[in-house]
Amino acid sequence: MLDEKILNEMRDLLEQEKIQLVSELTSIARPDKSVKGEWKVQFPTFERSENISHAQKEEEADEVEEYEMRLAAEDSLESRLLEVNHALERIQTPQYGVCKKCRQPLGLDRLRANPAADYHTEHIE
Ligand SMILES: [Zn+2]
Repeated sequence: MLDEKILNEMRDLLEQEKIQLVSELTSIARPDKSVKGEWKVQFPTFERSENISHAQKEEEADEVEEYEMRLAAEDSLESRLLEVNHALERIQTPQYGVCKKCRQPLGLDRLRANPAADYHTEHIE
């Protein structure tokens, strides 16, 4: 059983990470109002330069490239945010810090490395 001091430490880590994740997500996406926990990537619109004939196609290509990078980033940020939110709910229950697979305590090292962990590393391929 984890004591109050450790739980507070983990809660702080999770809250900080959540703030970080939300701020990163906000820079590339907007919350999807229709699905809770989902975000929609914003298509980037770069400044158009004056020299249209030369630059426009290049800028459009850059925007598509940037959009694809955002899609990949959004995907991992969004799933990490779900894990962190889930851990913040679980931290209020006795299940927090207990491995979902073998039901043994995860241990402090594991939790400090990933406060949202719910399995021992050895169960993860
Ligand atoms: Zn385990």
